[in-house]
Amino acid sequence: MFEELDLDDALCAALATMGLNKPTSIQSLAIPEAMNGRDVLASAPTGTGKTLAFLLPACQYLLDYPRKQPGATRILILSPTRELALQIYQQAQAVTQHTDLVCGVITGGINYGTDRETLSQNLDILVATPGRLFEHIEKESAECRDIEWLVLDEADRMLDMGFSAIVNQIAAEARWRKQTLLFSATLEGGGIRRFADSLLNEPVELDASPSRKEKAKILQWYHLADSAEHKYALLKHILAEQITTAIVFVKTRERLQQIKDMLTRDGFQVAWLQGEMPQDRRNAAMAQFKSGQVPILVATDVAARGIDVPNVSHVINFDMPRKADVYLHRIGRTGRAGAKGIAISLIEAHDFSMVGKVARYTKESFKARVIEELRPKHKAPALIKKPKSKVKKKMTAKAKKRSAKKVKGKTRGKSPKQDQ
Ligand code: AMP
Repeated sequence: MFEELDLDDALCAALATMGLNKPTSIQSLAIPEAMNGRDVLASAPTGTGKTLAFLLPACQYLLDYPRKQPGATRILILSPTRELALQIYQQAQAVTQHTDLVCGVITGGINYGTDRETLSQNLDILVATPGRLFEHIEKESAECRDIEWLVLDEADRMLDMGFSAIVNQIAAEARWRKQTLLFSATLEGGGIRRFADSLLNEPVELDASPSRKEKAKILQWYHLADSAEHKYALLKHILAEQITTAIVFVKTRERLQQIKDMLTRDGFQVAWLQGEMPQDRRNAAMAQFKSGQVPILVATDVAARGIDVPNVSHVINFDMPRKADVYLHRIGRTGRAGAKGIAISLIEAHDFSMVGKVARYTKESFKARVIEELRPKHKAPALIKKPKSKVKKKMTAKAKKRSAKKVKGKTRGKSPKQDQ
């Protein structure tokens, strides 16, 4: 229960208004450590409640140590994408609704005049994308000297997007900070540890990767298809029969255009999101989908990272992604914070190897589904049914026997020597 975390009444009241009463595992782990003054290095994918894991202790800090006079920003939260920044900002506003704390957000795609207004508001908490904030620092329209907490959200993504140099410069500007918290979907690979080492001071390391049980809440199905046309027929059928809310992932902007036109023509209400869209159109699409006005969102990966829509019942991979970790990010849009979700992948022959990779990466197999009237001509190859991890286990058992025999043989062979 949140009461056990010793949070201010105003924050508890906000959580109650938000309908939240029990912390998620990353919240239970991170909030006490951050409230004890520790730097935090957390592996926490989206959907685990990581945003409140840093917002709640940050707000508690501001309430515990109120500033004496209006001044510059004290908490800086950096997000790799605009959508994520807006979501963090919205959660910050919700959490601070019963306090006097002031929050603001600046991101690319918003005009500079609006930014300047935001920055002139004596903000306690600023959420920003690194590029836009750095522009303001260079123009001296923003400064970080009074920052006391620096939070880096989705740090792995920041590195992927080439933000490490800018983030390091912003961190150098915020050099008098007391605490730094870094959240990342993973702490493995991509230089994330080196990045963390350069920014954090003796951090406590926390792992909130979803447990097996939490993961199992996302059911993973696949439908075999003979062609792109067949995939579209399956998509239409699934959307018409099974769906309450769905995000449909496609591989390119061209494909997005095609699919959303076809769905619209076939009478579905669809919103769409792609990386090149102006910010106001992206926001409008998200608002339509979030409010439930439109039940289907078609998106490319670039656009969809970080979007947070509670209660997405289905994620549909119209096209499989090229990388297994992107698959995990995609399906993380459903089954959020403990809710059940279904991920459906539409698979053509050329996707088989990718499905095998994903199955090995997630250590989970996919379940085959067939819609009788749309039965494919192809059969599923063995690798979908048997993720390699299981195959490996069997081989390991056999290998053990073999090596046991070898050892015996060797021992026998050796004994005369030993006897000598
Ligand atoms: P995040 O991982 O921060 O993107 O959060 C994912 C979703 O979980 C958001 O919609 C949050 O509102 C929701 N959430 C955060 N904390 C909790 C909680 N303690 N209980 C239930 N839902 C939560």
